[in-house]
Amino acid sequence: MASLTGLTMAAALDGLAKKEFSSTELTGAYVAAVEQARHLNAYIVETPEQALDMAKASDARRAKGTAGAMDGLPLGIKDLYCTKGVQTTAGSHILEGFTPTYESTVTQKLWDAGAVMLGKLNLDEFAMGSANITSHFGNVESPWRKPGDNRPLVPGGSSGGSAAAVSAHAAIAATGTDTGGSIRQPASFTGIVGLKPTYGRCSRWGIVAFASSLDQAGPMTRSVTDAAIMLGVMAGHDPKDSTSVDIAVPDYRAALEGSVKGLRVGIPKEYRVEGMPAEIEQQWQQGIDWLKAAGMVPVEVSLPHTKHALPTYYIIAPAEASSNLARYDGVRYGLRVEGDTLDGLYENSRAAGFGAEVKRRVLIGTYVLSAGYYDAYYLKAQKIRTLIAEDFRKAYEQCDVILTPTSPSAAFAIGEKMDDPVAMYMQDVFTVPANLAGIPGLSVPSGVSADGLPLGLQVLGKAFDEETVLKVGRVIEKAAAFSARPSFLAGE
Ligand code: GLN
Repeated sequence: MASLTGLTMAAALDGLAKKEFSSTELTGAYVAAVEQARHLNAYIVETPEQALDMAKASDARRAKGTAGAMDGLPLGIKDLYCTKGVQTTAGSHILEGFTPTYESTVTQKLWDAGAVMLGKLNLDEFAMGSANITSHFGNVESPWRKPGDNRPLVPGGSSGGSAAAVSAHAAIAATGTDTGGSIRQPASFTGIVGLKPTYGRCSRWGIVAFASSLDQAGPMTRSVTDAAIMLGVMAGHDPKDSTSVDIAVPDYRAALEGSVKGLRVGIPKEYRVEGMPAEIEQQWQQGIDWLKAAGMVPVEVSLPHTKHALPTYYIIAPAEASSNLARYDGVRYGLRVEGDTLDGLYENSRAAGFGAEVKRRVLIGTYVLSAGYYDAYYLKAQKIRTLIAEDFRKAYEQCDVILTPTSPSAAFAIGEKMDDPVAMYMQDVFTVPANLAGIPGLSVPSGVSADGLPLGLQVLGKAFDEETVLKVGRVIEKAAAFSARPSFLAGE
């Protein structure tokens, strides 16, 4: 048997059911793994005692025959999800020391299904970033290295702590959030599976808001099956989130068994962006060939407004962020820096509490929303957003899913692209359209770069059709048989 921390969720659930090991043993192994992985800085807060208590309770439920769908599985939680009694910071100084008195709906669902919490995972400040280099609590390091090159690499972002922890076997799976790619891009950088569900599939209640019309919660796991199991627990209508949709949650795991024969896979010609590295292009072609071999039919589709997606996103996301972040004023909670006047208190608290990237977004956001510029930027961006959603609607008249690369590159070294925000924003070129259109997207590890680093393929689907997305993702996963491991795990 593989080491306990090497098991997928599905395998661990099997082992727990057969009483090969207890959740207390599994959780104990993870608590040790979290300690061993400390230098990656994936966790902001570790909760080992709570984890072991939850594991004990899980073992008791299992003995009574009342185990839930994820009973006994030790998870890491992105520190954007409010967790009752456990510090929740969004990676920001302004929320340092904030301890929610309530639990986010999605984490509550995970605990209700029996999962165990190992701690809170690092992220880019307020989930703004693609490299996990903007957190007040420091950079996250990827467990991967290029062979023969010991420079630390980024795990991607903003769910960088989640990606690092899952790929370093310091959590069996983790929650992420995705506003413009923050689940899929780090999943692709670290060789794991990341699923951004349809907007409205999972409740956003109790998740610190970045851009409310784009944010979605989703699972980050080591296999497509695990993503299916975890989404089934996370998803569902929540009266506390008026944008969560009241439709039944299907059995995603059962959906994996269906055939993909005859399904049409759309290949959007506008995604062949200039300057795309040849190895990314080759991965993409390989993906098309795998799906063809499984009986799927490739069709060329057109998403004509693709080139406007990134600039549109970088107007809408900062606009919503500047409004959402107005609540951090030093008065109600979080950091307070006194001033001579009330305005002075606001200014001092926000100046000290927010990092440079967050300030940049607040400035862009207030600018595009300001009188005189609103029509030229914000309103225009909203119109283009509608056209982008229309593009997908039309494309899906010709195909069932769309296949693209997840990211235009493999992971880069910490320090690269740091002084060039536009180069960093380019990371999101293949992921933001799905957020603008609200559709689901899955990243599956598909191979390695010439440098031996993971690459991912993205499967996009129709709104609320995560079943087909997962089913097609499973075909890629099987064909790719991705077996590369991060150097960090060499001794496991
Ligand atoms: N990288 C994108 C950004 O910086 C996406 C972030 C996210 O999805 N949370 O906005």
